[in-house]
Amino acid sequence: MNTLPKSSVTSTGHEQHGRYPQAGSVDDFRRNLMQVRQRIADVSLRVGRDPQEVRLLPVSKTFSEPQLRLAYEAGCRQLGENKVQEAYRKWGNLSDLPELRWSVIGHLQTNKAKLVARFASEFQALDSLKLAEALDRRLQAEGRELDVFVQVNTSGESSKYGLAPDEVATFLQQMPHFSALRVRGLMTLALFSSDVPRVRTCFASLRELRDRLRQEIPAGVTLDDLSMGMSGDFEIAIEEGATVVRVGQAIFGARAIPDSHYWPSA
Ligand SMILES: *Cc1c(COP(=O)(O)O)cnc(C)c1O
Repeated sequence: MNTLPKSSVTSTGHEQHGRYPQAGSVDDFRRNLMQVRQRIADVSLRVGRDPQEVRLLPVSKTFSEPQLRLAYEAGCRQLGENKVQEAYRKWGNLSDLPELRWSVIGHLQTNKAKLVARFASEFQALDSLKLAEALDRRLQAEGRELDVFVQVNTSGESSKYGLAPDEVATFLQQMPHFSALRVRGLMTLALFSSDVPRVRTCFASLRELRDRLRQEIPAGVTLDDLSMGMSGDFEIAIEEGATVVRVGQAIFGARAIPDSHYWPSA
């Protein structure tokens, strides 16, 4: 007899932004990971979802290679990075760590597609045909394939990257031309705001878009995954159907480098 409301997150954690304590030991990382996983499990169960449906992607941007090694020792086997050159450097310097995979989650310039093609196991910010074409060509040359997410601008902010929601259907129809790209789903960044209903609207609109698109996707494209939610808002995202949450600060600690370095809008 569950009398809890179906969704009940009423505040974002964005006021914590910049205040998370630094993780400086394997134990710190173990504790932070456990806490985040517990929050994922709690919110999933509350809305009747299986916590196993939600993948936690730890986001390690700005943190040093020694810190990434601690995170690895605490169990992280996949790390998300926003900037490809930073990711590529870390990949090279941490290549002694078995089974560590890299997910590039930030905007990519076409001329850097060859770096992603070389080392990434996932790319979450596909937002143009030109980029799809460049990635596919570079992947073919490397003999690799890549899981990709199409980034959608659900907040309507002109400074945010991603396709407009009404461009996604046409875009997906082109994807079968790029045989090295395996489209897995959609990704979005919500409005960065403490206004929960407006944040929730971003996530809900990505899910609704996905549900509509599913009826007309071409062969080879799957839209099972929705990558949405970060430290301040991942619980709202899970309530709205996220299958991947990208969490940095709640695991690694506050970042010294301002987010404007990563998100032109911040
Ligand atoms: C940095 C970043 C995140 C994680 O943000 P946190 O506040 O550290 O959890 C998620 N997604 C993208 C695209 C990012 O650049």
